[in-house]
Amino acid sequence: MPESYRPHLRKDDDKDRTASQSVTTNTSVGHAKVQDILDQKKGQVVTIRPQQTLHEAVEILRDNRIGALPVADATGALLGILSERDIVRKLADTPGHTLPHKVEEVMTRNVETTTVDEPLVTVLRRMTDGRFRHMPVVDGDALTGIITIGDVVHFRLNQLELEALQIKQLIVG
Ligand code: AMP
Repeated sequence: MPESYRPHLRKDDDKDRTASQSVTTNTSVGHAKVQDILDQKKGQVVTIRPQQTLHEAVEILRDNRIGALPVADATGALLGILSERDIVRKLADTPGHTLPHKVEEVMTRNVETTTVDEPLVTVLRRMTDGRFRHMPVVDGDALTGIITIGDVVHFRLNQLELEALQIKQLIVG
């Protein structure tokens, strides 16, 4: 067909479209990493020692309004994780005398961890598959942070809002 009869296609404008007008270049949904969440979180990671009691653990959880505690030794090495769910299970197993038990009797020892470079998509997948809501962040042996499934969902929702705004701007021009 002669060039003059060809309909005008959207891709014809590609050369004029700048990077800032492209939705895919502006939304890093697939590229977001654990570090992006840590950047928005303040404060130290609250931990507990294995020899401490569940009584101390529930007080720390209450005071910090959190749902899990990484269990670390004096050097900061990660030994396990204790979540409110572990405590509830122990409460059902030992009614009336749960609180004096030690953290190390109840904690999960086989902890799945992440690093700052891991994409959020795979962290979310591992949390969903493993059915846990907390993921300690490590650098070698050292515990450097913790992210929760709530943090990931919150981050994702913000990204979706941004994405919707950008699409609106593309349409409105
Ligand atoms: P959660 O949903 O995080 O409160 O935890 C549910 C169960 O999974 C509890 O038994 C926790 O000890 C355990 N758990 C929590 N986080 C992790 C993790 N990152 N790796 C392995 N187990 C975990």
